[in-house]
Amino acid sequence: MGKTTPTVNKLKNMPKQAVTTKPIRSLEDALEQCQLLGMRVSRQRRFILELLWQANEHLSAREIYDRLNQQGKDIGHTSVYQNLEALSSQGIIECIERCDGRLYGNISDSHSHVNCVDTNQILDVHIELPEEFIRQVEQQTGVKITDYSINFYGYRNSQAS
Ligand SMILES: [Zn+2]
Repeated sequence: MGKTTPTVNKLKNMPKQAVTTKPIRSLEDALEQCQLLGMRVSRQRRFILELLWQANEHLSAREIYDRLNQQGKDIGHTSVYQNLEALSSQGIIECIERCDGRLYGNISDSHSHVNCVDTNQILDVHIELPEEFIRQVEQQTGVKITDYSINFYGYRNSQAS
């Protein structure tokens, strides 16, 4: 008696494949996501996530290992590799494949990159293309665009000698 039936809101126009995971926007979100996925948040795993969120740049496994050890964090080489693998395969961190190896970043949802040619840095940017532009691409290719990421290239300092 007195049992209320919950109202079910019908979701209109929701893509079928959409797994409603909220985007990771902070270290706390990342840790929460680990727990939601049933991943153990070991000390080592936390070190890596903390570093990526502090550094706010794309780092190689080697750089991550070096920086953590410089900070006096007790973490082995293998542990760094294994944790990066686990975190990136679960979509908690970003993994970019480059010809010279893999780089890891803190932002896991789709975003664009500004590649700095002189410093070799990759900066994250969120770019939203005009709707009209996307439609144009769809018309040209017949492919329904659901996501995109752009690579920009340029120089930070114009070093005219
Ligand atoms: Zn990135």
